[in-house]
Amino acid sequence: MGADPRHARHEALARALEAEGLDGVLVTSRANIRYLTGFSGSAALVAATRADLLLVTDFRYDEQARAEAAAVARVEIESTSVWERLFKELATLGSLVAVGYEAHALTVKDAERLTEGGKPWRWKPTTELVERLRVRKDAGEVAAIKSAAVLAGEALAGTLRHVRPGLTELEIAGLLEGALRRLGSEGHPFPTIVASGPRTALPHARSSRRTVAAGDWLLLDFGAQVDGYCADITRTVVVGARATERQRSLYALVEEAQRRARAGVRAGMAGREADALARDLIAARGFGDAFGHSLGHGIGLEVHEAPRLAKTNADPLPVGAVVTIEPGVYLAGQGGVRIEDDVHLAAAGPELLSDGRSELVELD
Ligand code: ZN
Ligand code: ZN
Repeated sequence: MGADPRHARHEALARALEAEGLDGVLVTSRANIRYLTGFSGSAALVAATRADLLLVTDFRYDEQARAEAAAVARVEIESTSVWERLFKELATLGSLVAVGYEAHALTVKDAERLTEGGKPWRWKPTTELVERLRVRKDAGEVAAIKSAAVLAGEALAGTLRHVRPGLTELEIAGLLEGALRRLGSEGHPFPTIVASGPRTALPHARSSRRTVAAGDWLLLDFGAQVDGYCADITRTVVVGARATERQRSLYALVEEAQRRARAGVRAGMAGREADALARDLIAARGFGDAFGHSLGHGIGLEVHEAPRLAKTNADPLPVGAVVTIEPGVYLAGQGGVRIEDDVHLAAAGPELLSDGRSELVELD
């Protein structure tokens, strides 16, 4: 067994705190709490100083918090007020002056608690202190995302065997979610999107009661979760008929763009260069305006995290990030095609984590 990765994470956070001139940080993002301590429950407060990790939660999580986090954090269980307990315990962690809080993960109401009643700390808003560490995945994290991606591919293959005209989008979503659960997905990281016919032109459609007809596009965008880590996959298929020439050519364009991007994406290239791998091709064929979202996003403990593969991102993609590659072309009133796979940006080049089965499937 290798070293517990949480130690290295805390050390990296300690260096980040030093660089920011902070003595500690209050961590309230659930994903960040899980990353640092391993605690997977829904309610806890974590204070990280350069030397200590403190986790305060309530009695519901007594056993779970000790089992998951006690190897790296001091776990305190509170049955009345976790906030008051946090402040009390914080006072025992040496002389702290400047303490950060996660401005993106704290409600205004909770932020008011930080200063109520003349507390001794100087609070400073931080953004993405821990998120920046989470971008580069270690081997265990990549393996978890790969497990989730493989599971998602198997769930889809099993589901497509039962898809036929006459089922509603919601019924197909139910089949898919059942298969994901049976294969071991811990949860659905986001609401499963099953869209059919002209509704596939809505990039973030919600699954509806619409009945799928023969010859329809069927777009399925869904996730799986293993050990807290998410996969995010999209496939677009034709149901109940062979594809028309028009469908075939639209699909071929998106597939070519997706393959080009997933083969060409590299750590070190700017997020916008990665985006251009697919966008330039789609634009050159006259469909630039129909690809209205960015190429992809990071995945990990959350289904949308850094880095962004987008026109607006001039920063280099970090080595070790895991990202989605998901070009799409959407034609209002007709329908759309999106193909999404998950790729690890290893130092040696892109490593496909999902099954990459992007060829056109006709369920006739
Ligand atoms: Zn997706
Ligand atoms: Zn996605």
